[in-house]
Amino acid sequence: MTIERVSTAEVAPEELALETTVRPRRLDEFAGQERVKENLAILLDAARHRSEPVDHILLYGPPGLGKTTLANIVAAEVGAQIRTTSGPAIERAGDLAAVLTSLGQGDILFIDEIHRLSHVVEEILYPAMEDFALDVVLGKGPGARTVRLQIEHVTVIGATTRVGSITGPLRERFGATYRLDYYTQPELEQILRRSAGILDIALAPTAAEIVAQRSRGTPRIANRLLKRVRDFAQVRGSGDGAVSAELATAALDLMEIDERGLDAMDRQLLRAIAKHHAGGPVGLQTMAATISEPVETLEDVVEPYLMQIGLLARTSRGRQLTAGAWEHLGLTPPASAASAQQQAQPGLFD
Ligand code: ADP
Repeated sequence: MTIERVSTAEVAPEELALETTVRPRRLDEFAGQERVKENLAILLDAARHRSEPVDHILLYGPPGLGKTTLANIVAAEVGAQIRTTSGPAIERAGDLAAVLTSLGQGDILFIDEIHRLSHVVEEILYPAMEDFALDVVLGKGPGARTVRLQIEHVTVIGATTRVGSITGPLRERFGATYRLDYYTQPELEQILRRSAGILDIALAPTAAEIVAQRSRGTPRIANRLLKRVRDFAQVRGSGDGAVSAELATAALDLMEIDERGLDAMDRQLLRAIAKHHAGGPVGLQTMAATISEPVETLEDVVEPYLMQIGLLARTSRGRQLTAGAWEHLGLTPPASAASAQQQAQPGLFD
């Protein structure tokens, strides 16, 4: 049986429409991330005052926290055009050159998954970001020469789930770097209320609380669950489509999402570490094999959340269950695991 993951970072084509509909357009509609918003507002104001394009911005954090949304907001706030692409989509240097030359003064180039840019493409990006120039090689062999073409003064906004994989020279070219964090329960409730309003869903405040609690601190997942809960309410509810706390709970239980936002796969992973590895430490590869997911998914999506809520701890020898994880699974840790707990506090080795 394949287990459907609500926490997946992939956005299915049919989900794109939902994302676009509920995506905040302006900074004041964007919930949470107060520190980032404040810094960003200053950056934008300063650029407006000087009548200059905005500095290059790097946004990082787990998927679904609002990096793409913020890039679009920056464009809207300064009245610029935005072109969206991604690291793997830009295959050749010429692809990037074509995009860059099509942009006007102050326009924004948003590069998602910027850590996946190839080396050759990255080399083209350096002078483009620093000197607003493209170094084009004309001809081949001994007669080849490089000509420098000026491009407009554009703003590059890069987004990544793994800032550690970005090369030093690229990172240095961003004037501002912001980390997005998981959202708090009240922030997620606020996002859910707004989305429910846009989608015309009668969401009881207590139902919003329940959905927020199980959304893994992630707006994308909150919206995803909202839609699923609405569908459930339409079929199983009293016919008016209203989402009560009871219906929300029943829908999420049916999806096997528990009160901490874990799905069946997360629990399977934690249980495997408990049962087959006495709670760990266990290596990433082994963990990935347990849930048949690539290591990258584990590192970018699964693990950060389990660590954030204190169920998994990173130690120098691998990942380990915390006392909270044993409790969550309803299992008793073996004596060896209990003593290891002392050394494995969440985030200690971050
Ligand atoms: P990322 O680029 O980090 O993967 P997105 O910007 O695509 O994430 O956000 C995913 C979805 O979550 C968007 O469609 C948007 O509706 C919603 N979202 C993200 N951040 C916020 C926020 N702060 N307030 C309201 N909605 C948000």
